[in-house]
Amino acid sequence: MSNILIVEDEERISIFVKRGLQSAGYACTVISDGVEGLLEAQTGAYDLVLLDVGLPTLDGFEILRLIRVSHPQLPVIMLTARSSVEDTVLGLDGGANDYLAKPFKVDELLARIRSRLRETPSAPSTELSHGSLSLDLRTRRARVGDRVVDLSVREFALAEEFLRHPEQVLSREQLLSRVWGYDFDPGSNVLDVYVRYLRNKIGVDAIETVRGMGYRLR
Ligand code: CA
Repeated sequence: MSNILIVEDEERISIFVKRGLQSAGYACTVISDGVEGLLEAQTGAYDLVLLDVGLPTLDGFEILRLIRVSHPQLPVIMLTARSSVEDTVLGLDGGANDYLAKPFKVDELLARIRSRLRETPSAPSTELSHGSLSLDLRTRRARVGDRVVDLSVREFALAEEFLRHPEQVLSREQLLSRVWGYDFDPGSNVLDVYVRYLRNKIGVDAIETVRGMGYRLR
């Protein structure tokens, strides 16, 4: 049985979420304080964390950042009333696996949880490479030739998607859904922004824009 940690200070919401998860067969624990939630998440007892943004003592983005340092593979779904693109990008770049804007339906939450639990990698040990770019999926380290390149969680995920399909044109929808993990607005410029970040780090010619179609790793 999967064990889920809910870090949420609004009792109305945490009770609603807890009931929904329990009726779907998950074990869950609710913590209403930021620092306590972080410490609980870091015990290693959980398969997934549902994390509110606005919390007493430590906000959700900071908790997320610290979880990513200590437990890079732990799936985290942010729960928030804020739905602006800016906050979404901040949350996802901070390493959230998904993002759910309040109010949400319990079925929607359960679908996201199922999908995140399925995707959790089981100790990947492979290295992907194409041309001079290589990614070690175990250590999450990227290199261009002999040079180690510092990639954010999201940049790494994008580079990984390209490396899994070298020389193929990947559509915007494909990249958004695989890397950002849910129905992002295809008109959003978040992908273009991240492709630019990645080009700056791995080489401006490494990723080709295929007009009207998407991007391709060369
Ligand atoms: Ca809150």
